[in-house]
Amino acid sequence: MNAHTEATPKQSVPRESVIVAGGGIVGLACAHYLVQSGYDVTVIDQGTIGGECSHGNCGYVCPSHVAPLTEPGAFRVALRSLFNPQSPFRVKPRLSPALLRWMLQFARRCTHKQMLTAGAHLQVILNASIAEYRTLMATEQLACEWEEKGLLYVFENQGPLEAFAAEDRLLTEHFGLSATRIAATDLTDFDPGLKPGLAGGFHYPGDASVRPDRLNASWCTRLREQGVRFREHCVLQRVLRQGNRVDGLETSQGPLSAKHYVFALGARSTLWSKQLGISIPIEPGKGYSLTMPRPDHCPDHPILFPEQRVGVSPFAHGMRLGSMMEFAGYDTTIPPQRLRQLREAARRYLVASVDAPADETWFGWRPMTWDSLPIIGPVPGLAGSFLATGHNMIGVTLAPATGRLVADLVSGRTPFIDAAPYLPSRFG
Ligand SMILES: Cc1cc2nc3c(=O)[nH]c(=O)nc-3n(C[C@H](O)[C@H](O)[C@H](O)COP(=O)(O)OP(=O)(O)OC[C@H]3O[C@@H](n4cnc5c(N)ncnc54)[C@H](O)[C@@H]3O)c2cc1C
Repeated sequence: MNAHTEATPKQSVPRESVIVAGGGIVGLACAHYLVQSGYDVTVIDQGTIGGECSHGNCGYVCPSHVAPLTEPGAFRVALRSLFNPQSPFRVKPRLSPALLRWMLQFARRCTHKQMLTAGAHLQVILNASIAEYRTLMATEQLACEWEEKGLLYVFENQGPLEAFAAEDRLLTEHFGLSATRIAATDLTDFDPGLKPGLAGGFHYPGDASVRPDRLNASWCTRLREQGVRFREHCVLQRVLRQGNRVDGLETSQGPLSAKHYVFALGARSTLWSKQLGISIPIEPGKGYSLTMPRPDHCPDHPILFPEQRVGVSPFAHGMRLGSMMEFAGYDTTIPPQRLRQLREAARRYLVASVDAPADETWFGWRPMTWDSLPIIGPVPGLAGSFLATGHNMIGVTLAPATGRLVADLVSGRTPFIDAAPYLPSRFG
């Protein structure tokens, strides 16, 4: 035998294709892990990439957020808000059978036991996600103002501070999370952007933050370099089925087809329940933000003011105030009163002026599930189709672990975390 064997010509194996419908942070993360797994990926979005809920949010990457929204007392707050249009947590009275069903399921879960169960499931994916972020930041050089300064909770009054202290003890006892309590007298040393005279705070050092629009833009650029195709202004209009498979998508830019489909449609996911043949119980949870030029005395840390349900995000060239949770359907207005509320709330705590004209005012619909858990996994009865949605108030945080889990499920690998708590099949 000739020692010099001829080199066999390299067979180019066609890569399996995936269409990711929805180019928010969750769709981007799915695209990343799918392309890393060798798939040929196209992302379509009816608007611009990262242009909806993933655009103007607060940018906290917060593994400390293990306590789900479904906590004891949350339903009472929701009921009271029916009569108070200015409540930061508000259910707008309206005749919607879907909202009523959603609220009833939500109410059933507002118990201590359910809170701990949902919290345990959340913690797994939260911890997995921050680990993924650290790897991403090391390998992808995403220009997104990634900071690991933790998340600070600050209180104006002693009562709410002590109530939070009890919650913090619960987080330590059940989830092993530990915050540093910051005395009133130490607060302004800890962050000179805070006014003197506040009651105190808690600092969760394991949290991080990003500037969300920069994250979307730089991740999109990296993905393009890696061969991901993006189609903006491409509206998904119909899912074409053949038996128990998706046969293709009808879109505003013509028919598209692939071997696998990932539906990452955020708060609008529920509108696809019928076509996908599965219940997707998501309500849009509307929030607002305003972003202004970075003021003098801008705080150094991302900070939440739980008494006002308002957060502040310091960016390199700006400062964002964000908050509110309104269940008002797909409402697209930005009432001036809500923006005033953001400014008035922040004014109580910050040294900086909060009166500068806004560079941007914004609203976003959070994809809210009634059990506070995301919906990730195969669409039952529809081979080759997957959902990646329902990330509630923490979609930026949960995106990387979601993307990795989706890539594992699409490729049939053993999932890197147990997918069971998040599967779409839990809704029957
Ligand atoms: C005020 C506020 C503050 C927040 N702060 C934080 C925070 O600090 N940390 C955190 O982790 N999370 C935060 N969130 C939550 C977070 O923003 C969301 O959970 C996350 O953005 C959801 O991402 P997504 O990709 O699922 O949805 P989206 O970003 O909404 O993406 C869905 C995409 O699907 C597209 N789409 C929908 N229908 C179609 C169609 N028919 N055809 C084609 N495309 C379609 C949309 O155009 C959109 O781009 C905040 C939210 C708000 C409102």
